This record gives sequence, structure tokens and C-alpha cells, in this order.
Amino acid sequence: MASNKRDYYEILGIGRDATERELKAAYRKLALKYHPDKNPDDPEAEERFKEAAEAYEVLRDPQKRQIYDQYGHEGLEGTGFSGFAGFDDIFSSFGGIFEDLFGFGSGRRSRSRARRGNDLRYDLTLTFMEAAFGKETHIDIEKMITCPECNGDGCEPGTQPQTCPHCQGSGQVTQTQGFFTLRTTCRHCGGAGRIITDPCSRCRGSGQVREQKRVAVKIPAGVDNGSRLRLAGEGEPGHYGGPPGDLYVFIHVKPHNFFQRRDNDIYCEVPISFIQAALGDEIMVPTLNGKKKLKIPKGTQPGHLFRFRHEGIPSLRNGTRGDQIIQVSVRTPTHLTKKQEALLQEFKKLEAAKLTTKLKNILKGTAGVAETA
Ligand SMILES: [Zn+2]
Ligand SMILES: [Zn+2]
Repeated sequence: MASNKRDYYEILGIGRDATERELKAAYRKLALKYHPDKNPDDPEAEERFKEAAEAYEVLRDPQKRQIYDQYGHEGLEGTGFSGFAGFDDIFSSFGGIFEDLFGFGSGRRSRSRARRGNDLRYDLTLTFMEAAFGKETHIDIEKMITCPECNGDGCEPGTQPQTCPHCQGSGQVTQTQGFFTLRTTCRHCGGAGRIITDPCSRCRGSGQVREQKRVAVKIPAGVDNGSRLRLAGEGEPGHYGGPPGDLYVFIHVKPHNFFQRRDNDIYCEVPISFIQAALGDEIMVPTLNGKKKLKIPKGTQPGHLFRFRHEGIPSLRNGTRGDQIIQVSVRTPTHLTKKQEALLQEFKKLEAAKLTTKLKNILKGTAGVAETA
């Protein structure tokens, strides 16, 4: 789809180095020319109007403009920008800018007054195990809710809002400016089309009150530090019939004193004695699901890594568990009994004898090489 789009600078008929002022002037010209009030039921004009709005929307934002300059339409798709669906979308997105730019209203604002509620953020701290296995819990959040007294219409129960006498409830007043019939937001009612004479005593007419609310949260197994859960519709309520916002739960995971996590693998360090390392042994190693036997082979070196397959953290995507990686640290004994010491002395002598023989052989070998050369 992006490849069929025309170049934004070409649409507005400006150069790539156009200043903000030139950009605004170019857009103003096109928006006036193709404005739906002047071109009723003209799909061609509608297309031009939308195209110009999109181009202006991107280029007036320095960040979006830079992305577009560098990567073109594809670059903007990466940011989630997808142009406008229709007039209402354009007018609600530009909001007051239309009035600033042209000195008249968008002509559609009464339909666009519905506003989505605010998103909320909650920070939730979990233990290492809770993050690994998931958890069903609840959180208490303080948020705005629709006023239960007036059901959000802002009127004291038993009273009715009055239709605004200035705009007869449309929220807009019509003005004639040149050859345009222009509509501006009614100043008397702020565009609501109605006036509340007896505001609800609980919410003072706002239609919303702040309240503590308990929300159930299902933490999936495998969440990590920085994971973000979205609870659709659990944010604050919308305004004028708009949809509610979302609640985002940000996950923080407390460190564990034995396991460390890297992606879905867990790492741990297990001490063994140098005798175990030399002779080999079997030891019990804690895992997420209890203890498990690990075979230490003869002659294991310090720092050697062993792996338990699928004893790590489940992947959030497909549930496959990572591995547990065990690093052995070899400890040197510090308090030896007389007998242990004597045995080690004996061992030392044997090692020294072994070394001497080895050294002799090496020297012999080297001499042999020298002779044949
Ligand atoms: Zn009014
Ligand atoms: Zn109320």
C-alpha cells in the first residue's frame, strides 16, 4: 500500500527544504480548495483533501518529517502511522488546528467530540518464582469512573440538561465568510449542544468520579522485568460516549538469591570440592521444580558449565522452557585434619614424581628432534 502513495512534498507542491511557514501556507491553500464544504459529494476532492491532510500531518511534526525524509512511507508504517480513515478522523486529529489555521471550525467537530478515556499505568512487583510460573492476582487502582449518581450525564438526578438555545443543540453556529458557509463551535455550550442547569452534586457535572477499583490480573508464566500487560478497557472511561482507555501493568521482577535469568535460561553456581572435581561425583542441584541429580565427571575443571534441558523459564510466546545452566566452582579445602594433610602430602609427592618423569620425556624428545635435524 505504501508504495502507491504519492510523495508528501509533491502532494503539497513544496520543496524538501520548505519551512514551517511555507508548509502551512501550502496546506492551507489545498485544504481550502478541497474542503468538503466546498466540494460536496466529490470523491476526487475528498481524496485530495485527505492526501493533503496526511502529508501535512506528517511534515508538520519534526520527528515524523525526519523519519519520512530518511525512510519514506515505509519508515512511517514502522511507527504505527497509517494516514486517515475519513473526514472525522482528520478533523478529530487536527482538533483546534483547523481553527488556528483557517479561523473557522472543521464543520464536523460535533461528531468527533467523543473522546477515548485515558490509559492508566500500574507497576507490579513479582518474585522470581511468580514471574517464572505466572500468577492470578488482583490490583487496586484509583481511577476515574462514570459517575454512578448521574450515569455520566452530569445532571442532578431528576433534572434534564437544557438544549443550548444558541445553537439549538447542534453544538455549532453557522457563519458566512466569503463564499464559504463556515461552522464554528458554539461558545455558549462549548460544542456540547446542551447546558446543565443543575449539575450532579456527586461529580459536580463532570460525569466522572475518582474511585478505588479492584481489577483481576492474570500474569502469564514467563514474564520478565519490563514486560507490559495490557488490560483493554480497564483505563478511565471515555468522554461523550468515547471508548474507555486501557490499563497497562508494568512488571518488575525481584532478583533471586540462587538463580539468575538471561532470556528464558536460568544460571546458577554450585560449589564442589576439588576432590569431587578430580574423582567425579553425583550432587543434588536445586531447580525451579525441586532438586535434580547432576553427574560430575572425573577431572571436571573449575567454571565448567552443565546444562539441564528445559528446566528454565517458559517462553511467553509458545511455553517452551529455556535451560538451566549450572556452573561449578571448585573450592579448595581450608581446614584439613592431620590425616587429610598427610594424604595430600603423599599425593603431592606422587604428582612431583609424575611431573619429573614427564619433564624427562619431553627433554628426551626435544634432544631426539635436535639430533635428527
Ligand atoms: Zn450551543
Ligand atoms: Zn454525577
